[in-house]
Amino acid sequence: MRRDALQCISTKEKIKMKKDFYEILGISKSADAAEIKKGYRKQAIAHHPDKNPGDKSAEEKFKLAAEAYEVLSDPQKKAKYDQYGHQAFDGSGGFGGGGHGGMNMDDIFSQFGDIFGGGFGGFGGGGGGGVRRAKGSNLRIKVKLTLEEIANGVEKKVKVKRKVQAPGVSYKTCSTCNGQGQVMRVTNTILGRMQSASTCPTCGGSGQILDRKPAEADSQGMILEDETVSIKIPAGVVDGMQLKVSNKGNDAPGNSIPGDLIVAIEELEHEFLKREGENLHYDLYISFAEAVLGISKDIEAINGKVRIKLEEGIQSGKILRLKGKGIPNINGYGSGDLLVHVNVWTPKTLNKEQKQFFENALTDENFIPNPEKSDKSFFEKVKDMFS
Ligand SMILES: [Zn+2]
Repeated sequence: MRRDALQCISTKEKIKMKKDFYEILGISKSADAAEIKKGYRKQAIAHHPDKNPGDKSAEEKFKLAAEAYEVLSDPQKKAKYDQYGHQAFDGSGGFGGGGHGGMNMDDIFSQFGDIFGGGFGGFGGGGGGGVRRAKGSNLRIKVKLTLEEIANGVEKKVKVKRKVQAPGVSYKTCSTCNGQGQVMRVTNTILGRMQSASTCPTCGGSGQILDRKPAEADSQGMILEDETVSIKIPAGVVDGMQLKVSNKGNDAPGNSIPGDLIVAIEELEHEFLKREGENLHYDLYISFAEAVLGISKDIEAINGKVRIKLEEGIQSGKILRLKGKGIPNINGYGSGDLLVHVNVWTPKTLNKEQKQFFENALTDENFIPNPEKSDKSFFEKVKDMFS
């Protein structure tokens, strides 16, 4: 049995697809706190899973409403959203799973449950609704990317070994907990009889037990299966960032949802270019003669060579900025720059004639350092770069 996997979409596409939070809650942009709460309550009740069992689009709307409410009910987040829109949240904390967008049903019920008022409980609670579906564990992999792949975005195919239900396996409702996954226990304490819920010892909380199992399956009816997963990695990712591919983790027994595949980004070092945020740095070495006479040079930029012209009399330590030749912003806000650091190479050995030439130069006024105001010190240049 194959479950449909949500593809991993880039942050940019996601932002484009996202509906306005005010629109989701059916309120105007000038709505006050009470109206926001009212708007959310209306949406949450209309799309509540207890009212719409098995309806995927209702579940999606229910989640979106919670996401919108989480932002709009928090004055700080609301201010950020009003100013920057969805970009304020996607991107920073990673992508999908991070910061926002990754609310699951449990989060929603634990955070906003009180809003629904009477009649609606959480899953498997007193609301008389459905049983919470167990979720399989997440799988984690590391993907190594070159700077070129990071600059352009890349689609990577990775092989993962996922736990899936064996073909022919079947489950039946656990009779200990009647499929609820939890059992109630009554204990006598000095305060009287206390009732508490605990995970069902027979089924381990899934509400289902193995009915028929093929020989090759493990005690839970699972087998390991090789699967090639294609991961779309957006341009501009950063070392250590984690991407989430939904439903590509391990499956769990019974009527469950697969876990997620968590992809950690590892950036490989580049031969010539050093990354600093969205900017790239390149150390260019030129000869003394080239510095004096001026020259055109090819720079190894991220997507091939770029020719730059050095004026005659260029000083060592000068930094040339090639706009937009850096790494793209992950949220699609343009690209960083390539900063070329000019280093003049001083010859270490000279022949007799050359030596004579430079000895004469010692007293030649053309060779006496005379920095102009435009030849800024290194620190001033660095200050400029970050302002
Ligand atoms: Zn059970």
